[in-house]
Amino acid sequence: MSLRDLPILNGQPGRPCPKSDRLAESVADRRAQERLDLAWAKAVKTRDHWTCQICGVKVEQTIAFTPTRAEAHHIYAKGAHPELRHEIDNGILLCLQCHRTAQKDRTVIPPVILGRAELCYRRIVLGETHPDRSLA
Ligand SMILES: [Zn+2]
Repeated sequence: MSLRDLPILNGQPGRPCPKSDRLAESVADRRAQERLDLAWAKAVKTRDHWTCQICGVKVEQTIAFTPTRAEAHHIYAKGAHPELRHEIDNGILLCLQCHRTAQKDRTVIPPVILGRAELCYRRIVLGETHPDRSLA
């Protein structure tokens, strides 16, 4: 008896089992999502000139948990608003310390984040193209 003689438990002869197809799709989806996440974070950091928008400290790209670590924060939480996950207007650059504070208690929202939230809402939901001028 060889492996070829064993019954096929999943899938069809000559074709990978459906579970491995779904796993491959899941991995590909996750990798695509990670690429989008990185591109979104990079765009937010560049737009905000590598400066924490709450405390004003210059931040840097690092994997170390230093106070000046650059972190892109979702203004509208990505879990509650997955459709806004990769909208640049839904991001704000914070230092590690300010990001932790913002995530700890979302009921206490710094004014700069409230302002950005309004801009995000106006641009994405209302379709305004020049939010800075419309708020002036
Ligand atoms: Zn900060």
